[in-house]
This record gives sequence, structure tokens and C-alpha cells, in this order.
Amino acid sequence: MSDVKYYKATEIAKGSYMIEYAFTDQEHVYCYLVEGEKYALLIDTMYGYGSLKAFCETLTEKPIVLALTHFHLDHVAANAEFGSCYMHHLDIANYLDSKLPGREEMLARALAEAFPELKDRMELSDMVEFQTVVTYPLYDGDVLDLGGRTLRVVHVGGHSAGSIAFIDQEARIAYTGDCCNGNTLLGFGNSLPVETYLKNLLHFKKYQDQFDMMYGGHQVLPPSVIDEGIELCGRVIAGTDDHEVVTGFHGRTAIYAANHGASPIERADGKLFNMSYNPDRILEGGKKDRVIDFQPVPMF
Ligand SMILES: [Zn+2]
Repeated sequence: MSDVKYYKATEIAKGSYMIEYAFTDQEHVYCYLVEGEKYALLIDTMYGYGSLKAFCETLTEKPIVLALTHFHLDHVAANAEFGSCYMHHLDIANYLDSKLPGREEMLARALAEAFPELKDRMELSDMVEFQTVVTYPLYDGDVLDLGGRTLRVVHVGGHSAGSIAFIDQEARIAYTGDCCNGNTLLGFGNSLPVETYLKNLLHFKKYQDQFDMMYGGHQVLPPSVIDEGIELCGRVIAGTDDHEVVTGFHGRTAIYAANHGASPIERADGKLFNMSYNPDRILEGGKKDRVIDFQPVPMF
């Protein structure tokens, strides 16, 4: 194992850390460690580039419990270091069925993005081998008690059926994964119809006055982005959205609800929320039947 420093952390509130990669500036992916008096809660594990557990142990001495915002690769790949995890029950089957790249491919991906001076120091043994772990179900309304600090689980399914946010009411922070941001992807096999996602955003909005910032898997956004999401879902359902066709995301064509500005997460009108969606999966039940063809579901 090399001495390359793969992670860095920023304390965003007392005992709350935003963790990101230190070996590259190409990956905008974040996970979070929230320390209570008895336990520290790790929210997501990113790609497994370097030992996340060893890094977390430099931030806390408390036993670490792992909970996931959803099952996608860029949120779960270092789970094996933690032995077990908590996840919304609607994402568990997809997670347990995940077939992810081995360490050789993950090292190749990491090397492609690493700062040049680190490339010849990074080793295969630095990569965490992906394995699924014992997974306990979470349900909307669950409260995670860390001792002197509690986080509430809110189901905001859409991007994945079991996407959730964790609300730390004491620190007034919502940890939101990919459930509501400037590039909310609703086109995956396990994504929900836009109509269902809208209902879940309205549910999330009930808690909007309990947090001042949304710390997500790729972006940090103000709570007002929920209102923009509700508005844009309404336009998609009414057929009055911008319906921008974008080619290039993982080689596929995607329909975006709002026209883009200069970058993939920038809207032409300056608002913060955007989403891509499957035009056959707008209404619940769908305009067309959802045909299950037993092909592996592309996860990321
Ligand atoms: Zn995701």
C-alpha cells in the first residue's frame, strides 16, 4: 500500500465532515462523516480509491456506522471496508445485484484522473475491492441516533427508487446524495416516473424549514432547489418543459427538462435544479408499459 493521500476533509459543522478526493481535481464526488457521542455515521463511500476507513479513523475515534443515500457505484464502492450498511429498502435488491469493476479497472480510472506527480506512486493495493455487504433496510421516517445527535431519513425516490436524504436537525444540514440537484438523472432502470418523483419532492418539502444547506453527492445547494424541482416536474408533466435533447451521457441520448447553459450542471435561465428523464416514464403507470427484459440494469 502506498503513502498517497487519497482523501481530504472539510469540517462543515461541529463534528460534521465533507470528504472528497485529494489525489485529483477531476472528481466532484463527496461523502460525509457525522460524529455523535456514541457513533459516527458515514454517509456514502464514493469509488474506493484509497482506504476510506483509514481516513475516517483520522477524523473520529467513535465506531463508524455506514448508511447510503442510494445504491449507485460512486456512492457504495468502498462499502466492504465497513462490513455492513443501511440503505433504503427499495434500493437493496439493485445494490446486492451490482456487478462492479475490479481493482485493476478502478486503478486505471483513478490513474487517468490523478495529479501527474502521483501517478507512479499509486498501487493496485490502494484500491478497495468492491463487495456487497450485509445490508439493513431503512424506511422513510426512521431516525438514526448517534448519541446526542439524530438524523432523520426522508425518502426522496426518483433518481433511484430508494434515494433518501438524511436530515441533521441540530446542525440544520440535509445530506441528499443525488436526490435533487443540478443534474438529477431520472433515466435509469431503477428510476421512478416523474409524477412519483414530484410527490416525493413535495414530501421532502415538508422538512425544508429544518435545514439551511443541502450537501449532496456532487453539489452543495440551498434548500430552494427543492422548489425549483417541484416547478420543473410540473412542467414536464404538463408537457411545457424545454425538452432539450443531449447526446453524450454514457453514450446515450438524454432529455433534459430545462435548457443548459455553458456546463452540464448550469441552466440557461440561471436556476439551479435540472433533471433528465425518460419520456415514456413521466406518468405513473407510464404512457407505455414498462417492459422488463431481464437485461442487466445499467447502474452508472
Ligand atoms: Zn446516483
